Amino acid sequence: MQARFHAIWSEITPKLQKALLPYIGNDDFPAMLTAEQVESIKQSSEFDDQALALALLPLSAACSLAPISHFYVGAIARGESGNLYFGANMEFTGVPLQQTVHAEQSAITHAWLHGEKKLVSITINYSPCGHCRQFMNELNSGTQLEVYLPNRPRLTLADYLPEAFGPGDLTDTPLLLDTVNHGYQLAISDELVQAGLAAANRSHAPYSQSHSGIALQDEQGKIYTGRYAENAAFNPSLPPLQAALIFMNMAGGNCQSIKRAVLVEGENNHLSQWNATESTLTALGCTKIQRYTF
Ligand SMILES: [Zn+2]
Repeated sequence: MQARFHAIWSEITPKLQKALLPYIGNDDFPAMLTAEQVESIKQSSEFDDQALALALLPLSAACSLAPISHFYVGAIARGESGNLYFGANMEFTGVPLQQTVHAEQSAITHAWLHGEKKLVSITINYSPCGHCRQFMNELNSGTQLEVYLPNRPRLTLADYLPEAFGPGDLTDTPLLLDTVNHGYQLAISDELVQAGLAAANRSHAPYSQSHSGIALQDEQGKIYTGRYAENAAFNPSLPPLQAALIFMNMAGGNCQSIKRAVLVEGENNHLSQWNATESTLTALGCTKIQRYTF
C-alpha cells in the first residue's frame, strides 16, 4: 500500500478494509476504481454507491498536497461508466495561489484524463467553493450533476449554483468531457512532444481557441499528460500543467521528480501557458522545460 494511505487506513471499518484491500493494497493503485471493482467492493462491504463514495473520502483526502493551508480536501467523481475517480487539492509553494488545484477540479480532471465521457456525481468532504461550482458548470453533465456531502441530502449542481452563468450563455460548442480532436500536427519524432500534442488536441478551449497540452516525464521515465480546461467565466480555467500534475499525483508519482516537461500550444494563440508553466515547474525543481508550437 502506498505510504500516503497508511495513517488513514485504521479509520476505515474492518469490513470495508477487507473489500478495498485487493485494490488499495497494491503499490501501483491509480487512485481510481473500475466499475467492476466498485461492484465487487459493494457486494463484499454491503455499501451502496453513495455510502461507498462517502467512505472513500478520507482516502482521497490522503492524496492531498497542501503545504500552505494544511487543509485536506478529498473528492470522488463517479463516471457514467461506473468508475470512481479520486481527487484531492494541491498547493504549490513559491508560486501564486492561482496555481492551486481544488479537490473537485482534481477528481473531474482525473476522470477526463482516464477517458471518462460524462460524470454522474461528485462527492466531497467540504461544501464546494464558488470557484468549483463554476468549474463544474462547464461539464457536459450540466447542472444536473449530483453533489453529495457527508450528512447532507442529495442535491444537484443547480441547487449549489442558482441563476448560473455557463457555456450555454456563450456558445454551443463542446462542453468539458465531450470527446474532441482538434487535429493539430507536428512533424517531430519525440515521444514527449507527441504526447503533449495529443493532449493539446483533446484540450477544451472553446472561448479562446487557445488549445494547449503538456507532457511530463519523471525520473523513472513515466509520462503524464495534461490538457487545458477552459471555463466560460475564464477564471476557473485549469492550465494543462495542473491537469498533468493531478494525473501524476493521483497515479502515485512525485511532482518534485519531473526530469523533462514539454508544453505544446498554438503559435498564434490569444493566450500562452508558457510563463505560468515555466514558473510552477521551476518551483517544483524541474530544469528542462521546453515549448513547442503548432
Ligand atoms: Zn473549490
